Amino acid sequence: MEIILARDMGFCWGVRRAIEIMERAAQEKGEIISLGPIVHNPLVMARLEEKGVRLLRDGQLPKEQPLAITAHGAGPEVYERARAEGVEVIDTTCPIVTRSQRWAKKMAEQGFTVVVFGDAEHREVKGVLAWSRGKGIAVTDVDEVPPDVSRIAVISQTTQNPDKFADFVARLLKERMDTIHELRLVNTLCNVTSTQQEAARELAREADVVIVVGGRSSANTRHLVEVCREEGAETYHIERADELDPSWLQGKEKVGITAGASTPDWAVEEVVARIRQLSGQQLTS
Ligand code: SF4
Repeated sequence: MEIILARDMGFCWGVRRAIEIMERAAQEKGEIISLGPIVHNPLVMARLEEKGVRLLRDGQLPKEQPLAITAHGAGPEVYERARAEGVEVIDTTCPIVTRSQRWAKKMAEQGFTVVVFGDAEHREVKGVLAWSRGKGIAVTDVDEVPPDVSRIAVISQTTQNPDKFADFVARLLKERMDTIHELRLVNTLCNVTSTQQEAARELAREADVVIVVGGRSSANTRHLVEVCREEGAETYHIERADELDPSWLQGKEKVGITAGASTPDWAVEEVVARIRQLSGQQLTS
C-alpha cells in the first residue's frame, strides 16, 4: 500500500508563528492566558495547556498573567481594555489579518461602509469588523448588503474561497451599479487555503481513498473533505489516528493523506504510522 501525502497541508505559517510565540512566552512567564483557542483542534490545545498556555474562560482579563491574542486577531477594544487594566499583551495576530484590520480601519475612517465577505461568527471577521468601529458588516451574499449605502469598501475573510469572493464582487457590481457611487476592493485573501485545496484536489484524483486529518469544528478541514469528495474520491475525516477504520483501507493501493490548517505535523505522522501498522497487519493475516 502506497501512502501519498498532499504536497501542501497542515499548519500554515501564520499559525506556526503564533504557536511558537505563545510557547516561548509561556516558558518565560510560567503561564499565559490566550484569548480563545489558537487553532480549532482540541489535541493541539491540550498540548499547549500542558506547556502553560491557558484559555481565557469567563471574559475577565487575567490579573497576573499576560494576555495572548491569537493569529485570528482581535478588535481595538481588547487592546484598550488590556492597557486600561495594566495587562501585558502578547500579540500573535497573523500579519495577513493585521493588514485586513488596517484596511477596515482606514476605509471606515474615509467614510466607506466596510463590507467583509465572510462568516459573521468567525473570530477573525469579528475582529476586523471591530476595527471599522461600527461602520462594517459581514455578509456572504449580495442581498445582505444594505441597499442604501453608496460608498462601499469590500474586503474578504482571509480564508474565503477565491472563486466565491470573485463571484460576490461581480454580482455586487452587476446588481448595485445604480446605487453604488464608489467601490473599493481590497484583496485580503490568504493563498494558504487555495494552495492547500488545490493540493487536496490533486491528491483526490490520484488516491483510491483520502483521509483528511483535522478538528471536526475546523471549517478549513471540512472544506478539504468537500473538495476531495467533489473530485469523486472516497474520503474520510478523522481527528485522531485511532479513529481510522481498517475497512476503509481494504483493497486500496493508494491512500492519500491531507490535513487542515489547524492540524499539527505529529497528528499526521501518527496517522501515517497507524496506516503502516494496519496495512502490515492485513498483509500478514
Ligand atoms: Fe494562516 Fe493565512 Fe490565516 Fe495567516 S491568514 S493564519 S497564514 S491561514
